[in-house]
Amino acid sequence: MKLIVPISGGKDSQATLLYCIEKFGVENIEAVFCDTKWEHELTYNHLSYTVEKSGVKFKVLSSNKYDGFVDLCKKKKRFPSSQVGFCTIELKVVPMIDYVLSLDENVMIFQGIRSDESKKRAQMNEECRYFKYYFQPYTSNMIVLEEFFKKPPITDKQKKKERKAIDRLLLGHNDEKFFTYRKKDVFKWCEKYSDDIHRPFFNSSAEDVIYYCLDRDYKINPLYFRGASRVGCFPCKNARHDEIQLIITEFPDTIEKIKKAEYYVEGTFFSPDYIPQRYHSGFDTKSGKSICTIGDVVKYITDKNIQFSLLEEFGYESTECKSVFNICE
Ligand code: SF4
Repeated sequence: MKLIVPISGGKDSQATLLYCIEKFGVENIEAVFCDTKWEHELTYNHLSYTVEKSGVKFKVLSSNKYDGFVDLCKKKKRFPSSQVGFCTIELKVVPMIDYVLSLDENVMIFQGIRSDESKKRAQMNEECRYFKYYFQPYTSNMIVLEEFFKKPPITDKQKKKERKAIDRLLLGHNDEKFFTYRKKDVFKWCEKYSDDIHRPFFNSSAEDVIYYCLDRDYKINPLYFRGASRVGCFPCKNARHDEIQLIITEFPDTIEKIKKAEYYVEGTFFSPDYIPQRYHSGFDTKSGKSICTIGDVVKYITDKNIQFSLLEEFGYESTECKSVFNICE
């Protein structure tokens, strides 16, 4: 039986790793990291620190096809967006599936996922199986309607989605969708081996996992002390305005990193609807629409936050811990 803990450099996977080391012994665990080559240097350093201090076996996975996030975007001729999220699939899901399929033994995977991280994660379970969505649909018209039954549609887009699901069901189509990547290999592998997933901190809070690490005399990723609420790709394509604001003030090098990536990919990191159109300085000849460069995003977010600077000028500078988890308290 192979015991795997996917780690990202974040607090949840770190706590999960320490939990597994305590429970099963360090010699029986393998920490696995999917490298997108788009992480912050502090995250790479923190991973090295955790691995060296614990003495755990460490496996780094990366895409066979793409040399990290920027190369992927260059080859796809665009950056991913919230609608088109190919980065997770290509840089994390595919390398991990390939790795699991390369193993000739039962596998138990311990994931640092917590239910209160997001609505999507709240719908997961404490225990599961890795290849679940090869055997049961991740979506279907019935699933769509069940979701809208719990939370009725509000936007036109959601209403259209609900209408479409009803119409398809009335025609007798449930349109179930399954994962298909290396489907035959997955079915064959699953005939021989088990693929259990456990999430030991599923019902824990962010503070619980932080103190789980600190109580065991492990530092957590220093990015948290500098205000980051999550680590991993830095920044993630789904970064909120407040996360970019933090990057502007605390990590100006990262803005330069995005600028270089935009130049190399010949595209813009954020989609046009990320900021108001009046801030767009670019124009996409293909779509005939205006687009926003990282420079435009920086200008918009800086202008939006100008009131905070004014407050500081009037002596209201905050002296509180920058961590969103109040780690210094
Ligand atoms: S963390 Fe964000 S940018 Fe990185 S692979 Fe996942 S979705 Fe893409």
